[in-house]
Amino acid sequence: MVSSEVAPLAKTGGLADVSAALVRYLSAAGHDVRLLTPCYDVVDPALIESEPVPELQDLRMDLGDESIHYAIDATPLPDRGPAVYLLRCPALFDRGRIYTGDHDDTRRFTVLSRAAIEMCQHMGWSPHIMHCNDWHTALIPVFLKTLYQWDRLFAATRSVLAIHNIAYQGVTGTDRLEALGLDECRHLLDENDLAAGRVNFLRTGIRHADLITTVSPGYAREIRTDEGGMGLAADLRARPGRVVGILNGVDYRVWDPRNDPLLPIAYSAKDLSGKREGKQRFCIEQGMNPDPDLPLAGVVSRFTWQKGIDLMREVLPRFLERGRLQLAVLGAGEEHYESFFHTIAERYRGRVFFHCGYSEVLAHRIEAAADMFLMPSAFEPCGLNQMYSLRYGTVPIVRATGGLADSVHPFDPDSGEGTGIVFEHFDAGGLRWALETALALYEDRAAWRKLQRNGMREDFSWERQTARYVALFRELLAETEPPVIPSR
Ligand code: ADP
Repeated sequence: MVSSEVAPLAKTGGLADVSAALVRYLSAAGHDVRLLTPCYDVVDPALIESEPVPELQDLRMDLGDESIHYAIDATPLPDRGPAVYLLRCPALFDRGRIYTGDHDDTRRFTVLSRAAIEMCQHMGWSPHIMHCNDWHTALIPVFLKTLYQWDRLFAATRSVLAIHNIAYQGVTGTDRLEALGLDECRHLLDENDLAAGRVNFLRTGIRHADLITTVSPGYAREIRTDEGGMGLAADLRARPGRVVGILNGVDYRVWDPRNDPLLPIAYSAKDLSGKREGKQRFCIEQGMNPDPDLPLAGVVSRFTWQKGIDLMREVLPRFLERGRLQLAVLGAGEEHYESFFHTIAERYRGRVFFHCGYSEVLAHRIEAAADMFLMPSAFEPCGLNQMYSLRYGTVPIVRATGGLADSVHPFDPDSGEGTGIVFEHFDAGGLRWALETALALYEDRAAWRKLQRNGMREDFSWERQTARYVALFRELLAETEPPVIPSR
């Protein structure tokens, strides 16, 4: 496995959780999984107990006119996890953040991708599956077919590209081909892209990986539509039977109110009193007026357009103005969204809590304290917080898209079935309807308890989801011939 993020070492989103969980659970199931990730300067040194791997020191990679010097160490993932490999290359990864957002990122992650392949060579280790994640490592399938094709070590290796979010594609100019060491791969790059003077990492991966996975069945369907594919739908449609959606799992050792060390009071579906008390404490601690009758809505999010913050901006102030709910928000991102939350936290003091930034502790506390959780996303490949919310008895209010639609079922008060509030249209009317529905249900204590308990019973454990990956990998390895990839 090769990933630009692994929790808890380096994380900006779900990719980090998923790669960490897959390594943990596949290793626990007895598979020999070796994961390579960069050792960024932002990784908290307290989380690393790294040991140099003797055969992986003083390594060199030639890229264009430059030689990159690096080393690979091993460190156990915190909390009794398996060892993972850390790519040490300060010249590339000491940038004060995980992604720099400039063209240099394509170079940094090209080095990561090739280092993963070369690490196998130095170890004389022949993986069955090379599992790459998102655009950062999407060139691996092409590298295996070109630069490293001579090496029999990879003769039986199959490449799998996991798409966690198709919105990020890693696009750079063809003037960088040489600097990225891609000259030899030119014939496998998309001709239209080349003609337009660009290279698209994710498209390249989609065209050449033996298998493409994504993080929910719904998202697997959506990205094959022109609307959801963000320019890559045709490439995905050209790979029939090769795009599979598997819903992400939840690490219930970390996300379960029965044994969450970050919560002041544990609780369970049987006894929700700890949730009520936790809400009261949270409100007092965070300077909000505690009021058990007033629902508290939670938000933990990256502030980008995708997450539906614009809808919240249109809809929430009216609810707050009328004193119909309280709000606890944790997140950071685009400045105009941050300033919206700062403004309402100021205006509705005592009713709105906003922490601008990243905080693992607050994420858990908000999940537990809130009565309902808002995820009005425009699109959501899988989403994790709605699944955490379910386990915490925090009713998710989601838009019917991607993994949100796969994991939250609309509550029907007549049958008493369903786990959340689901709205269809990505507009203010949709979110307003969903909030009104939630507030009405909240008044009906019996219905609300039922809804909470339905959610708490859901099981999205990684054990289950990992077994699906294993079955898929086995199927792929059982194919006698690698799949023929049609040209477009
Ligand atoms: P995405 O990957 O698009 O950001 P996901 O729902 O798949 O969305 O994953 C988000 C993950 O990041 C969750 O584990 C969530 O709790 C966490 N997260 C997002 N923002 C913050 C934050 N500000 N502080 C702590 N955790 C956060």
